Amino acid sequence: MVGKPLPHRTKIVVTIGPASSESEVIRQLMQAGMSVARLNFSHGSYEDHAKRIHQLRVIASEMGLPLTLLQDLQGPKIRVGELPPSGLELGVGNSLTLIPLDEVQPSAASANTVGIDYPNLAQEVQPGTPVLLDDGLLELKVEKVEGNAVRCQVVTGGPLKSHKGVNFPTLNLSLPSMTQKDIEDLDFGIAQGVDIVSLSFVRSPDDVRSLKARIAEKGESIPVLAKLEKPQAIENLDAIVSECDAIMVARGDLGVEMSPEKVPLIQKRIIRTCNRKGIPVITATQMLDSMIHNPRPTRAEVSDVANAIIDGTDAVMLSGESAVGDYPIEAVKMLARIATDIEPETTFINYPPIETDDANAISEAMNAIDGVLDLQCIVTLTETGLSAKLAAAERPSVPIVALTANRKVYHRLNLVWGVRPILLESLTGPLESTFQQMETCLKENNLVATGDKVLLLGGLPMQVAHSTNFLKIHTIS
Ligand code: PEP
Repeated sequence: MVGKPLPHRTKIVVTIGPASSESEVIRQLMQAGMSVARLNFSHGSYEDHAKRIHQLRVIASEMGLPLTLLQDLQGPKIRVGELPPSGLELGVGNSLTLIPLDEVQPSAASANTVGIDYPNLAQEVQPGTPVLLDDGLLELKVEKVEGNAVRCQVVTGGPLKSHKGVNFPTLNLSLPSMTQKDIEDLDFGIAQGVDIVSLSFVRSPDDVRSLKARIAEKGESIPVLAKLEKPQAIENLDAIVSECDAIMVARGDLGVEMSPEKVPLIQKRIIRTCNRKGIPVITATQMLDSMIHNPRPTRAEVSDVANAIIDGTDAVMLSGESAVGDYPIEAVKMLARIATDIEPETTFINYPPIETDDANAISEAMNAIDGVLDLQCIVTLTETGLSAKLAAAERPSVPIVALTANRKVYHRLNLVWGVRPILLESLTGPLESTFQQMETCLKENNLVATGDKVLLLGGLPMQVAHSTNFLKIHTIS
C-alpha cells in the first residue's frame, strides 16, 4: 500500500531550505502535496546537501510516496563579493566602482568599491550600460571604464548585501555555460543519485548539450532541465525545448534580464511550446511571495498561480516561501487548493502529435477513448516513463497511473502533470498475469473498484524501451 493520491494534477515543486529541513516539516510538505524537492546549489555545503538528500529519500520511502529530487545548478550567475556585515548603502547619484574579485583590497568596500566575480567586465561594458543588482532592486549606470575598474553611478539606491546577484540586461556576456563550481556540483549530484538536473542561465541548445555530455561522461543519463531566464533563451526557445527533458520559466531573473511586463506573454509562449512538444514545464518564482511572512497570499498571487495552471503548466514552484519563509506548509496547501479548484474548470488544449510514430498514435487514440468512455483512470506500464509522458501531454480527464519496476523512473515521473507513479517489484511474466498484477495494485491503492473501466497503455514486449504500441480497455474484475 502506498500513500494517498492527491486531488489535483498540477505538480508542486518545493525549494528546500532552512525553513523546510526538519523531518516533521518535510512529512507535512509531502502530505500537503510536494511532488518535487528542489535543492538549490547556489547555497549550502555538500555535507548539508547529502544529509538533505538522504533525509528526503527516507521520508518519501516511509510515506510510500514518489518524490523527484531536482538538483538546481547555479550556472554562470554573476555576484558581488563579500561586503561588510551591515552591507553598503547606495545613495542615488553616488559613485560605485566594480572591480574583479581578485583585485579587491580589504578596505575597498567602505570606499565604495565592490568586487564582482566576472573578470572580463571592463572589456564588455560601455558608458551608459545599465547594471542591475539584487534582482533589479538596485540600478547603476556605467560612467567610465578605467583599466579593470568600472565606475558606475547609482540610479536606484538602497542597501547592498554580500553575494547579491548582478545582471546586465543589455549585454550578451562571454560567460561559459557551466562554471567549475557547476561541474563539481553536477558530479556530486550524479554520485548522490538526483532525479533531474537543472541548469541556470541557459542561452542556447549547446549549453544543454554540454550538460548532457558531462552526465554521459560519468556514464549516467539523468534528465536535464533548462531554466529560461535570458533573452537569448527566448530567441532560441524551440531548439532549447527540443534538447531538454523539462523546462523552467524562471521568472525571477527573466524579469530582470528583460522588462517585467514582457514576462506574462513569454510565460504563455514557453508553456505552449512545451505543451506542444510534451515536455514538462515548471512555472517558478514569486508565486506566493507574500507568504514568506504572511499566512495568506494576496489575491493577485492566487490569480497568478491559477493563470499558470490555465496556461497549461505542469508544475508550480515555491522558492523563498518554502526555503526561508514563515509558512512553508501553508504555502504548499494553498497551491494545492488553487490547483484543486481551478483544474476542473480548465479546458486544456490538445495539440496534434509532433512525431508520427506508434507511441504518438497510441496517445492520440487514448484521447479519443477518454472522450467517449467513463474511465476511472489511465494506466501506463512503463519502462522509461515515455508512455506516461505521452499520456500526460494529452491532458486526459482522468488520473494517469504509471506502473513501473524502475525506481529511477518512478521518482523522475513525479514532476509530470497528472501522473501518479507506483513502483512495482517487477513487470514480467505472461500478459494475463501482468493484468492481474495491475488490478491488484490499483485495488490495493484504492484507485479502482470491481466493474470500473481503465485504459491501459504499454509496450510489448514489456522490457523493450520506447515501444509503446498497445492500448487495452480493461474492466476491473
Ligand atoms: C528564477 O530566476 O526565477 C529562478 C528560479 O532562479 P534562481 O532562484 O535559481 O535564481
